[in-house]
Amino acid sequence: MRREIRPRSGVAFTLDRGQRLTVVDPCGEQVADLLAYNRHDVGEAISSGRTLDYASKIFLTTGDPLYSNRSNVMLDIVEDMVGRHDFLLTPCSEATFRIIYGDENPHRGCFGNLAEALAPFGVTEDMIPTAFNIFMNVSVDGQTGVLEVKPPPSKAGDHIIFEARMDLVVGLTACSALQSNNGSFKPIHWQVD
Ligand SMILES: [Zn+2]
Repeated sequence: MRREIRPRSGVAFTLDRGQRLTVVDPCGEQVADLLAYNRHDVGEAISSGRTLDYASKIFLTTGDPLYSNRSNVMLDIVEDMVGRHDFLLTPCSEATFRIIYGDENPHRGCFGNLAEALAPFGVTEDMIPTAFNIFMNVSVDGQTGVLEVKPPPSKAGDHIIFEARMDLVVGLTACSALQSNNGSFKPIHWQVD
């Protein structure tokens, strides 16, 4: 069954080893932040640092594994219609909107949405690492290292599919940052098979 994450919100759910998670961008140009934890010990979490180190690249796609902080494979990317995702930047947050956007009454962002959704599974704010930012288009200048957040290349109906390599708790959002989503907030669809 396909489910919807409303704009600027998030969910958490379990995924059994061997199950597949499909994340769909129903309208196009919308980012979804993904977090994963070992369901039997949430001290083990998805790790950008280890994944990028072992991949020796920063852009991941079909065939690439996502590792935990304990160097176990948590998820494999098994199908990817877009081919551009970010694994460098942390979930947008109240602080993001205050520091980068200058908002006086900032939204809690993906960080706040993930914290609330994951709390029933024993995950606290300090246990939230860099998310795998599905469809997020961050370019890097190879000489200076300057980062630029560009519109997501995802078109309406594009999807990515992950296969779980262990029993997981997953957090997933429809990202709340204007810049990441080319200026508008849209839903995200997801499905477990
Ligand atoms: Zn976000």
